[in-house]
Amino acid sequence: MMQFINENAQKYLISMIKSNSDALEELRVKSENENVPIIHRDVENMLKLLVKMNHSKSILEIGTAVGYSSLMFAEIGADITVTTLERYEKMYEKAIFNIELFKKSNQINAIFGNAGDLLKSMEKTFDLVFIDAAKSHYREFFELSLKNLNKGGVIISDNVLFKGRTVSDEYVERRNKTITRNMRNYLDFINEPPFFSVILPIGDGLSITIIEEDANEKNQ
Ligand code: SAH
Ligand code: MG
Repeated sequence: MMQFINENAQKYLISMIKSNSDALEELRVKSENENVPIIHRDVENMLKLLVKMNHSKSILEIGTAVGYSSLMFAEIGADITVTTLERYEKMYEKAIFNIELFKKSNQINAIFGNAGDLLKSMEKTFDLVFIDAAKSHYREFFELSLKNLNKGGVIISDNVLFKGRTVSDEYVERRNKTITRNMRNYLDFINEPPFFSVILPIGDGLSITIIEEDANEKNQ
């Protein structure tokens, strides 16, 4: 699949990234070995930067898997809380196990269920939303979580370049046509006012979106 930057450059840049606690590093290696699709290292560092820059204290995550990224967020600071949604029971159970193992149950609330359903009745509000689940539903997750976003909040989505498929039809197999179309529509949507986004070619593609509340006034 598509390599966004020169492989040597990427290796070099990733080698500069400081690792996490030993326990989290261990969970990264274990998850990668078991092919759990956890966030890439460069994406992880970008997420850390954004949490720190925006002073995000409450995070909504869509797609928990084994809890790796939730734990990463929680390790940024003891005052950070994470609500994370997972629909696959086996994954959810592994996440609960890891969250307890890391003694982070006080910071992380993992909820079992389909995010589309859970978001409809979600009332809590958050400083940051991280979308990392079924790629066909990004727009739905995004629109549903808008009501849960605090002023000045940010919505981040992982895997938006879908290993190059989003960029070029050359990489799109028949079975991935619909997902690819949906992802392209999503990226068009978040690049229209009142949203302002950047899409970074790191990991599998990461989009970062803010809402410009006064977008109309500013353009007059
Ligand atoms: N954020 C995790 C990785 C998540 S992998 C990390 O970086 O550590 C994506 C997860 O999203 C999978 O476990 C999958 O079961 C879950 N998922 C996919 N669609 C979902 C949906 N509609 N609702 C809830 N979870 C979903
Ligand atoms: Mg991902």
